[in-house]
Amino acid sequence: MVSERMLGLGTARSVIRELFEYGKQRAAQVGAENVFDFSLGNPSVPAPDAVNQEAIRILREQPELIHCYTSAQGDAAARQRFADSLNRRFGGDYTADQFYITVGAAASLCCVFGALTCPGDEFIVFAPYFPEYKVFIEGAGAKMVLIPPEIEGFQIDFDAFERAVTPHTKGVVVNTPNNPSGVVYSRQTLESLAAILTEKSRAYDHPIYLISDEPYREIVFQGFEVPWIPHLYRDTIVCYSFSKSLSLPGERLGYVLVPGQVTDAGRVYAAVAGAGRSLGYVNAPSLFQQVTSLCCDMTSDLAVYERNCQLLTDALREMGYHVVQPGGAFYLFPRSLEPDDMAFSERAKRDFDLLLVPGSGFGAPGHVRIAYCVQTEMLERALPRFRALAQSY
Ligand code: PLP
Repeated sequence: MVSERMLGLGTARSVIRELFEYGKQRAAQVGAENVFDFSLGNPSVPAPDAVNQEAIRILREQPELIHCYTSAQGDAAARQRFADSLNRRFGGDYTADQFYITVGAAASLCCVFGALTCPGDEFIVFAPYFPEYKVFIEGAGAKMVLIPPEIEGFQIDFDAFERAVTPHTKGVVVNTPNNPSGVVYSRQTLESLAAILTEKSRAYDHPIYLISDEPYREIVFQGFEVPWIPHLYRDTIVCYSFSKSLSLPGERLGYVLVPGQVTDAGRVYAAVAGAGRSLGYVNAPSLFQQVTSLCCDMTSDLAVYERNCQLLTDALREMGYHVVQPGGAFYLFPRSLEPDDMAFSERAKRDFDLLLVPGSGFGAPGHVRIAYCVQTEMLERALPRFRALAQSY
């Protein structure tokens, strides 16, 4: 006997993975240059040189810092560097003991949902959303409540949101810049959200935590602002990752920040550590705790994402696609040219070797996700395919 839930998760189809695997097979048949794979959000720019240099220096000069256990919550010096960096950048008084270092944003989120969930609790998520939220929330024993997308601008449908908040609401998840829409929530959106949460927390006499999932915090385009959310709402818990900002998804490094201003901060932090312990997310890779904390004020050269975004957005609009302007990350989320996004994605794949992920899986049917974290040259070569796809309708 095995767990039916885990069996289900382990055997469920992943449209993104299937597209990616299909792309590799198809490349073997027709040549890699003839397949246009926009399925995966793998950074296309290398990590900064300094990342490799620090790794090599530590390997050579500080062997005592690697291959060893650290504190379960992460090395104290590394946590202090993360705190110093945020204090410098956003102004705050964060301290090392508010950070729980763990293996990426995925583990950070699991630790937070695990820490907060009591029987009957619900977490609100806004579509379009990162599909793993459902897995993580249900894994913690809570229920995910999905707010339908506000498709004109992919901000928040506040009427639907207010109706969804109940005494069972333990937290709300935001992800800005967003996967899959690329949209950045405006300051006004975040202030409105904070005002509602403050009022509902008071009405229900318990804090409603705002969980800010921020792997794309640093990938922001000109003219857009990503406000530091703890400044806007007291009960914000931050989940961060170096997967995208430093192009290190394979190194699995991120953190949870429970700012001291959060209601019951000490208990919440201790529960995050408890969830980390119960999930086995202790002692994140020690070499990369050091490397990321020494490099956390820098980023990869992210300019290519903005260039790709502008190129693709302009071209698709000119071809007749409807695209909401992204403000960051490296995804575009245009409307599909027929209501059935699965059929649209299938046609793009079958007839044009364009691999686009259907929006249904992100809670926004009628759209497709284009992960444009690819070489610009490949994007340029793909444009005639997008045009031919549009003309086929
Ligand atoms: N949250 C969002 C919105 C993401 O897009 C991703 C990865 O793509 C994650 C979390 C998980 O990131 P990590 O690699 O840090 O676990």
